[in-house]
Amino acid sequence: MLRELKEEVLEANWMLVREGLVRLTWGNVSGLDRERGLFVIKPSGVAYRDLTADSLVVLDLEGKVVEGTLRPSSDAPTHRVLYREFPGIGGVCHTHSKHATMFSQAGVALPCQGTTQADHFHGTVPVVRELTPAEVAEDYEGNTGLAIAECFREQGIDPLARPGCFQKFHAPFTWGKNALDAVSNSVALEVCAEMALGTWRLDPQQNGLPGHLLDKHYLRKHGDGAYYGQG
Ligand SMILES: [Zn+2]
Repeated sequence: MLRELKEEVLEANWMLVREGLVRLTWGNVSGLDRERGLFVIKPSGVAYRDLTADSLVVLDLEGKVVEGTLRPSSDAPTHRVLYREFPGIGGVCHTHSKHATMFSQAGVALPCQGTTQADHFHGTVPVVRELTPAEVAEDYEGNTGLAIAECFREQGIDPLARPGCFQKFHAPFTWGKNALDAVSNSVALEVCAEMALGTWRLDPQQNGLPGHLLDKHYLRKHGDGAYYGQG
């Protein structure tokens, strides 16, 4: 079942390792077949080198495992909630990549300082509030997804135009049109977070590139008028 999607999700999880985004098993990627309402995710606690397409777990959007013998990633409820709350996405990625996690731990949003970030994020990457004791005690991972959706709703941010966030005291989450796209956004976020720390050392007042440059770089890659790449 979902052979192609499993191959893509497997590749996306290996990409986490190749791109240096994960240590140990601190990361997971999933991909969604929205028509069938099923998503494929990494099994919990399994080393990346031991992953195979058949070891991946298939769940429905109610959270029920429909295929696979291993337990799904403990973050699966966050992925599930994001698929339900953000109808346009097809992949979710979570890592504890070092620099993006520093922003999460500090609770500092990342302004779009330059065109590198503008190519992936049409603006500041927001911080999602920490969870309450009650939210942590019951359905912690599901509530994490709800807090992310709440943040984007309250701040009026289009999740497709800013496909990522820092969860306070935790780590980054990104998403995209599919699993590989979600990982690409994690790579971009990690690089931009690292560069921002250096940029601020050189110029502590640097809080974003001009709007016309932000729009130019984002819109030449995304939307109806996009012309970057080979189409
Ligand atoms: Zn985590």
